Amino acid sequence: MKRRDFIKKSALAGAGLSILPGIDGLQQEALAATRPKHPVVISSGNGLEAVKKAMSMIKGGSDTLDAVIAGVNIVEDDPDDLTVGYGGLPNEDGVVELDSSVMHGPTHNAGAVASIRNIKNPSKVAKLVMERTDHVLIVGEGALRFARAHGFKEEDLLTDKTRKIWLKWKENLNSKDDWLPGPEDEYSQLLEQYREVYGTINCCAVDTNGDLSGVTTTSGLSFKIPGRVGDSPIIGAGLFVDNEVGAAGSTGRGEANLKNLCSFLVVEFMRMGKSPEEACIQTCQRIADNTKMAMLLDDNGRPNFNVKFYAVNKKGQFGAAAIYEGGNFCVADAKGARHEDIAYLFKRKK
Ligand code: ASP
Repeated sequence: MKRRDFIKKSALAGAGLSILPGIDGLQQEALAATRPKHPVVISSGNGLEAVKKAMSMIKGGSDTLDAVIAGVNIVEDDPDDLTVGYGGLPNEDGVVELDSSVMHGPTHNAGAVASIRNIKNPSKVAKLVMERTDHVLIVGEGALRFARAHGFKEEDLLTDKTRKIWLKWKENLNSKDDWLPGPEDEYSQLLEQYREVYGTINCCAVDTNGDLSGVTTTSGLSFKIPGRVGDSPIIGAGLFVDNEVGAAGSTGRGEANLKNLCSFLVVEFMRMGKSPEEACIQTCQRIADNTKMAMLLDDNGRPNFNVKFYAVNKKGQFGAAAIYEGGNFCVADAKGARHEDIAYLFKRKK
């Protein structure tokens, strides 16, 4: 090997790139230009601790999937996040049912669980579905039994706080039934705050090899019909990773996402050369174009709900966008971990 080639190859190896047999120095250089100089982790706005954790693990040499799962586990464990894992808002019966999916770019493998009860880290179970079964998605009782088989402990995921918010919802549902509403209190306000609010965490990462992974985990729609499954555990809807292109995930009204397979679409837009942010915007536009039912439209003929997308490509460029303005997302890169404003398709009506 010529000295110059050796130096080039050493520099590439130092940047975390393997020396690929049969690829000459120039090709290696071209390859290096397509890969991030520093890992990048992005998440929904509730994931600042998640992106920090995932980044420190990737820097320590962890696989991107292990890193993003460890990141979202912090939010799944947090009783104060009422939209994910332990302390997530329950279904209409007062039972917490969780959905999660994971996808690993290098192997293009995926796993998911839906409507799983009593297990606070569904993302860990989703990874085991990926690794220890020949399936992609296991739901309900089967998912719980699968988790039990792998030693997960069952616990009640309803906290006192979420039980009281649910009770408020239940008591105020119908003025003609036998449940009599209690006095106005802090839970009345929380109910108003969370009645229509969606919440979930999506977290995606790319390392300096250009390897990508992602995870989405949620308690889904508050007070949902038992057994309702949203977009989060559906590969292509709430999460999609293509190791040649990028990773994308979503939060917001899952039904809109399920009808448009949006995370797959974001990745396909990136494959066509769009920036991650533009890919997210175009996907919001697709939802707006395909929303035709009167009950889902506002006075301007626009969707009366919001969906948000988060995307990172193989080069480490990232972006996020929502149908409606407002809110932020989290990113960790060479500049550290922070919130950034989310781009949007429409301004809110005045
Ligand atoms: N997308 C989730 C679902 O529909 C909810 C959310 O993101 O808030 O289940």
